[in-house]
Amino acid sequence: MNNSARRVVITGGAGFLGSHLCTRFLDEGYEVLCLDNFLTGSPTNVEHLLGREGFRMIRADVTDFVHVVGPVDMVLHFASPASPIDYLQLPLETLKVGSIGTMHTLGLAKEKQARYILASTSESYGDPQVHPQPESYWGHVNPVGPRGVYDEAKRFGEAMTMAYRRYHDVNTGILRIFNTHGAFMRPKDGRAVPTFIRQALRGEPITVAGDGTQTRSIQYVDDLVEGVWRFAQTEHPGPMNIGNPHEVSMLELAELVKELTGSSSEIRFIERPEDDPTVRQPDITLAREVLGWEPTVPLQEGLHRTIEWFRVHPELLGG
Ligand code: NAD
Repeated sequence: MNNSARRVVITGGAGFLGSHLCTRFLDEGYEVLCLDNFLTGSPTNVEHLLGREGFRMIRADVTDFVHVVGPVDMVLHFASPASPIDYLQLPLETLKVGSIGTMHTLGLAKEKQARYILASTSESYGDPQVHPQPESYWGHVNPVGPRGVYDEAKRFGEAMTMAYRRYHDVNTGILRIFNTHGAFMRPKDGRAVPTFIRQALRGEPITVAGDGTQTRSIQYVDDLVEGVWRFAQTEHPGPMNIGNPHEVSMLELAELVKELTGSSSEIRFIERPEDDPTVRQPDITLAREVLGWEPTVPLQEGLHRTIEWFRVHPELLGG
């Protein structure tokens, strides 16, 4: 390997977003060290990278400890259960990776004098009372509701990240990522896009929570990766929203997936989960100004690509 290559540690690198980030940083000439305990991710998500020069994957739980030999230029902390089904089933793991895992990875960045990126989330805004959500909004989160394990872990992670910046001079950056979709999502992770696509492709009822008027803003993964890449190159502390301001209701999304898949599935309304946010839309003024970034993949095009990925992986859609 080229001795002057820059080196990035990506925690959660075998997950949905992590796998795309591993690919991007390798493409940019980085050595990539992927740390993952495969709690919600899988080595198959990075199988295609295993033969590439500069890529290493290590099974590691970042809540135990994080030790890396040699220089590190960047640490991207993406490890965490991220879908409602996952974090409701794994509440303690979620709290631990957002708190202890964040502390350990910040410690690594401090030791190596590396740029540190925390993958925070739009869930930091909870069920927002300000719309769209700018970074200056402090949020509306129920700490004792079922989703609190995720939202509060991320909010704690943000506070910890700022403490390392203020008191240890670590070059940190917080990203608040909005709903993202694309290849390597798991069709049964409970998030709206893969759920609707799986149901539509299997000809099963497409299940919309509540009356489907609640909104989300979903971005295609390529846009997210571009945003992370640009943000990582700066020294900006964030928090910075990365998401697509194009807002759709869940019912519109279900109808769009039905149309794009050519499915004859019926749309069925089911009970709405507790504390499910009513609206969600990023204000991306800051990302536009600082990174010159904005999403470039329209909703229909992104959905089309994700649907095609699921079509060529029918084994994932089973039973
Ligand atoms: P994912 O579940 O596909 O990936 C998370 C990865 O972290 C998995 O590979 C999992 O095995 C790993 N992991 C979990 N706990 C770990 C631990 N203790 N040690 C090591 N590895 C561990 O989820 P994703 O959608 O790729 O999300 C990645 C990150 O981005 C998360 O931090 C999530 O909160 C954040 N995020 C994602 C979205 C989105 O729409 N996908 C939105 C906002 C924020």
